[in-house]
Amino acid sequence: MLTAVQRLKIDLMTEGISVSEAARRKIIGRKGNRPLTLADYASTSGIALELEGDIWVNAPIHDFNPNFVETPPHVLHLDDNGFFVRSGRLEVPANFVPVPDYHDQKNPWGEPYTSFAITHTDRVRISPIEGCGLVCKFCDLPYQFRYRKKSIEGLVDSVRKALQDKRLPAQHVLISGGTPKPEDYEYEHQVYEAITAAFPGLDIDIMMVPSPGLLDLQHLKDIGIHGLSINLELFNQRHADKVMPLKARLTRDQYLNFIERAVEIFGPDRVRSLLLVGLESIDDTLKGVEALAERACQPVLSPFRPDPATPLRHLQPPSGDFLGEVYERSLNIAERHAVKLGPRCIPCHHNTLTYPDRSGWYRKSHSAQTAAAT
Ligand code: SF4
Repeated sequence: MLTAVQRLKIDLMTEGISVSEAARRKIIGRKGNRPLTLADYASTSGIALELEGDIWVNAPIHDFNPNFVETPPHVLHLDDNGFFVRSGRLEVPANFVPVPDYHDQKNPWGEPYTSFAITHTDRVRISPIEGCGLVCKFCDLPYQFRYRKKSIEGLVDSVRKALQDKRLPAQHVLISGGTPKPEDYEYEHQVYEAITAAFPGLDIDIMMVPSPGLLDLQHLKDIGIHGLSINLELFNQRHADKVMPLKARLTRDQYLNFIERAVEIFGPDRVRSLLLVGLESIDDTLKGVEALAERACQPVLSPFRPDPATPLRHLQPPSGDFLGEVYERSLNIAERHAVKLGPRCIPCHHNTLTYPDRSGWYRKSHSAQTAAAT
């Protein structure tokens, strides 16, 4: 049974939030130059909040999701005690998570840092490939950006910058998509090697499509990659064929076989897989949860958020009741297989259906590198 604050997180994700004038003024600062959010990706388009009880949420706002956030019944307020969310009669203390200081700065080559790195809560994500060789209909990247490779020097420099950020120092790293074209696999390998070599001891994860020849599991483990996110996205092959035809050329079985091998090599706490909730039936999603959990892979439930730049912009997000049911039934499945719903990092729960529990398994990342780099 969800607590009131856990349910509020779900409602914020699916209905959005508005920001009172006082709260907005405080966030944008005296000069008015601090954005509410970097709104860089479909599932991180909103404002990040830490609610009472270590519950983290990314709540969409009208500014960036006018396609479904109109007059949400939840408001971020500010009073003498700080920020709080009011929802009906419920009032919940909240911390607003700012954007990093580097958000408007340029690197030594004159390029914006945000074209290399984006920090959300405590994790910096770098995308070696801009755009994407695959075109999933729920993802804004291939619709907003043309395919290009970024300089490896610039990527390493951007991670260092994110670790040193005074306002929002990153504690760990995710190297994610776009997916490279086969002729750029070698470049992608060089990025993995350069980042792990530059920041030994730092938790560095990879989120990538397991196309043949792209991810050499043993080599990645050997160079110090901490963990992997191999995202199924959709479990039903027919839906996958429609919504992500190129990515779905790899069948569910191929994904699951790869995940099984990844767990063998990296260990059970180091491999997770994201399922997009709301684009297929609850039963299909739960079959995906079962298939992952029985392979000791952490299922990550990611509520579908229609992005205005994509062909799915006219769809509505799944309802709070839908998400609540998927969460509770997934939790039962995970418990049966003695795995946790991912991700493990608590601040990274902000755009997933995950809550810390009393087991002590969920934790915050603390980077020794953050101190070393400053
Ligand atoms: S493969 Fe990943 S980055 Fe590429 S379009 Fe699909 S979801 Fe987006």
